[in-house]
Amino acid sequence: MKIDILAIGVHPDDVELSCAGTILKHIALKKKVGILDLTRGELGTRGTAEIRTKEAKKAAKILGVSFREQLNMADGFFRNNEKFQLEIIEKIRQYQPEIVLCNAVSDRHPDHGRSAKLVSDACFYSGLMKIETLHAKKKQQAWRPKAVYHYIQDNFIHPDFVIDITKYMDKKMEAISAFESQFYNPNSKEPKTAISGEDFFELVKAKSMIFGRSIGVRYAEGFTADRTIGVNSLFHLV
Ligand SMILES: [Zn+2]
Repeated sequence: MKIDILAIGVHPDDVELSCAGTILKHIALKKKVGILDLTRGELGTRGTAEIRTKEAKKAAKILGVSFREQLNMADGFFRNNEKFQLEIIEKIRQYQPEIVLCNAVSDRHPDHGRSAKLVSDACFYSGLMKIETLHAKKKQQAWRPKAVYHYIQDNFIHPDFVIDITKYMDKKMEAISAFESQFYNPNSKEPKTAISGEDFFELVKAKSMIFGRSIGVRYAEGFTADRTIGVNSLFHLV
């Protein structure tokens, strides 16, 4: 299956928190989108890997993506090296995405920045034909996505561009809410975390409002790019 966009997150819920609106918008534009989680988020204070996987499946259904896969890398302890790069290269060559969305270049959670570099490097190396993947069922062709964009998650990073997601904000919040073990739940007996408070949803919306304000819309998601962004015409800007 060839897809248009592969959204990669190191933890299940990174993608929903940071670029679910963009995913929903492009699915509405008839683009094929898949999600790849590098880990199952097993080090998260609340929930378990099994619970988070179940929640991730529910969120994927809400978004309407073509597939969601999890690579089972070690949460917290994966590294940007050949072993982990090859695992991602195999998926990039399998699905041949034109665009890859991945974690913020630096963030509050150290896994995010490391994952950003790991995915960027894997996207580049995936285009080198002399690199062979080890576990793929058959020999894979080299494939390099046209662009890698990093979504902005926790820390404020000035975006290189923003995407209007006003129409999709409610659905995005619905997808985030699928991760019941992670976010506000008055019945939960689990320890409080930086993201489990009632105000966290407001924060997600407020951040989208800040990005939206810069282009005169209510809600937007912000991204940075690995390379200079080109547009076909000045009128393609909003
Ligand atoms: Zn995360």
